[in-house]
Amino acid sequence: MLEWFSRHARSLPWRDGYDPYKILVSEFMLQQTQVDTVLPYFERWISLYPDLTSLADADDADVAKLWEGLGYYSRCRNLLSAVRAMAGEGYTAPPASAEALSRYPGIGPYTAGAVASIAYNIPVPAVDGNVERVAARLFDIEMTAGSSALKRLAAEKVSGMMPRGEARAFNQALMELGALVCLPRDPMCLDCPCGAGCLARMRGVQSLRPLPKARPAVKKIEAWGVLCFVEGSCLLRRRPDKGLWAGFWEIPWFERSTGDLRADADLWGREVGIECSSWEEIGTARFSFTNHRVTAWFATCEARALPRLRERLSAGEWGLHPPEDLPRLTLPAPSRKFLKLLRERL
Ligand code: SF4
Repeated sequence: MLEWFSRHARSLPWRDGYDPYKILVSEFMLQQTQVDTVLPYFERWISLYPDLTSLADADDADVAKLWEGLGYYSRCRNLLSAVRAMAGEGYTAPPASAEALSRYPGIGPYTAGAVASIAYNIPVPAVDGNVERVAARLFDIEMTAGSSALKRLAAEKVSGMMPRGEARAFNQALMELGALVCLPRDPMCLDCPCGAGCLARMRGVQSLRPLPKARPAVKKIEAWGVLCFVEGSCLLRRRPDKGLWAGFWEIPWFERSTGDLRADADLWGREVGIECSSWEEIGTARFSFTNHRVTAWFATCEARALPRLRERLSAGEWGLHPPEDLPRLTLPAPSRKFLKLLRERL
């Protein structure tokens, strides 16, 4: 496998010199995101924040803006918190032990193992989805994908196989094998360096390992998205401090109930504390979050503020922003889709 990795390893910027800070940033960015998507974000990030100290000193809003479009923003907040905590403890690079790394926000067993082994060549396992799948197939483990039992057993198997002094190359080889050869649906066993020793392949069950996890049912939602202009400013809603897109400003959207924009918006506006008029329909966009698939019809309108809105503005739940400020805000994906529709319309 090591020989295969030395010939097939992708040339990736964080592999150049294995700078521990760059490995840490790449591992945060790669959580639930493909390498190709991460590459341009990583390059921009490193050009602006080349080391741990520069990131620890960065402005929260600038960092969030740089992350915009990469999704799962809690990773960005956790990375910033982790790096600031490290800098506060006097570190100029991430600590060189999986145990020490796992004390920081957003660093679970996988990220701690990946940074410790890839940056510092420390012999600890790093079991992500790819490695879990490869281990489940090599040892024909009949356990459910993503389960803690499988993660534990896969970590044991990886530790047992790891050649002395080769943690960095070995863990990356397993990840690369899962990403390029041992694919979820159609593993390319003929190209696999481990084909001769793979139990699942010998038994012809490689596509059935690991066992698939039950997926939550997809929920389809139809919604309205409304950009309201109140005395020339855009009315934005602040998302709750926890959960998806936590703390972001967004162009408000709400579920359709009658199918008639004005009727639905009337009810919604009363709740928010506005009276809407001068509607203009802009277009339709689709977006997804967790297991929800949303189709949203977007519109703009003029709105008059009622006392209830004034209270909500004072409480910080809603905000009035000059239109020219919108491109500078870090907005969730649905709001950016809306603005794109609006720009195409102008
Ligand atoms: S032989 Fe096939 S199933 Fe086994 S590890 Fe290689 S690619 Fe995966």
